[in-house]
Amino acid sequence: MGQNSEVTTKRDPVEPQENLDVLASTQTVIKKALEKLGYPEHVFELLKEPLRFMHVRIPIRMDDGQVKVFTGYRSQHNDAVGPTKGGIRFHPDVTEPEVKALSIWMSLKSGIVDLPYGGGKGGIVCDPRQMSFRELERLSRGYVRAISQIVGPTKDIPAPDVFTNSQIMAWMMDEYSRIKEFDSPGFITGKPLVLGGSRGRETATAKGVTIMIREAAKKRGLDMKNARIAIQGFGNAGSYLAKFLHDAGAKVIGISDAYGALTDDNGLDIDYLLDRRDSFGSVTRLFKETITNQELLELDCDILVPAAVENQITAANAHRIKAGIVVEAANGPTTLEATKILSERDVLLVPDVLASAGGVTVSYFEWVQNNQGYYWTEDEVEKKLNDVMVSAFENVYNTAKVRQLDMRLAAYMVGVRKMAEASRFRGWV
Ligand code: GLU
Repeated sequence: MGQNSEVTTKRDPVEPQENLDVLASTQTVIKKALEKLGYPEHVFELLKEPLRFMHVRIPIRMDDGQVKVFTGYRSQHNDAVGPTKGGIRFHPDVTEPEVKALSIWMSLKSGIVDLPYGGGKGGIVCDPRQMSFRELERLSRGYVRAISQIVGPTKDIPAPDVFTNSQIMAWMMDEYSRIKEFDSPGFITGKPLVLGGSRGRETATAKGVTIMIREAAKKRGLDMKNARIAIQGFGNAGSYLAKFLHDAGAKVIGISDAYGALTDDNGLDIDYLLDRRDSFGSVTRLFKETITNQELLELDCDILVPAAVENQITAANAHRIKAGIVVEAANGPTTLEATKILSERDVLLVPDVLASAGGVTVSYFEWVQNNQGYYWTEDEVEKKLNDVMVSAFENVYNTAKVRQLDMRLAAYMVGVRKMAEASRFRGWV
């Protein structure tokens, strides 16, 4: 089970602490992006926090008969462009500011790939690795009951994220349909195919990242055949990505999960690792010879893909990153200080809000198919995804080049523009 695998943040103790607050960091970049676009201060006042934020307490009867009360959140950043959209994560480290930041990033992603959505995100503080199947079902249904008034196919559309999957989406869709008393496939995306899921949704984030890697490599004159790639995280994004890159002839020289990392200079046997991976994306515990996640990030490679959790590339290790291209498949893996260091070192950094937008793009395709009741082939989905991702990459890359900015600031400028414009047309600002 699970979208991304968890990785613990280990920091170099001799370095001074930098600000790892993801909400404050994203607000800093949004402010800069709006200034560059010439918007007045009050537009930032509107966009710096979600419009709506719900905190719920969910009592669940556990298998041993005891009741446990879980905390959940749903954040709706801005719905000027359209309904809000974004995943739900199940993780012990979920916090209120993190969910807020994640919802803002969803707004930016939707803007960058030009979807008719604003950003939303949800989270439940829990550890699904310690829970039974039935406990997870009760928690998923309880969460939907708690937030049902503020979500819906034309209000706010959830999806999978870290440690949630198509089974959880199916329970949530069923619970919502029962409450509303009509079948509502468009309430949630990332569903199983038989319940109105889209072909290609499961692999969409990894496909999108693969396209970004291909485009970034072209810009740097790097041949993908034999390119040396390290991937942090072996969840939904990281594991499919390893497979696609391996199949394309690249050498995946490192992968990792929450417990450690594996490396082989001649390229890892990805098919074997996929076969041995558990449903939470863990595989390294089966091996004696492992390295740490920090060592993986610093491997001698051409392309590095952080595909796990936040704050992995920081001021403490950014100088030691050897890759010439960093493509962020996770949300928020690189701090602002590290972004600065990497761009000063001329590393081509493809930021999260662009690189990981393949998931929400195919979620949008799923919602469109649900609304029209007519389903597309995998080839159609892939072709449309490719077109969307390539044009988003070009747009951000050219903005960065023409304005001499790093790719993150350029991506924020592209991502925030539609939302600011829609808020203005509606008379909100
Ligand atoms: N959770 C994914 C993300 O962070 C997908 C969201 C969606 O499909 O709506 O982009």
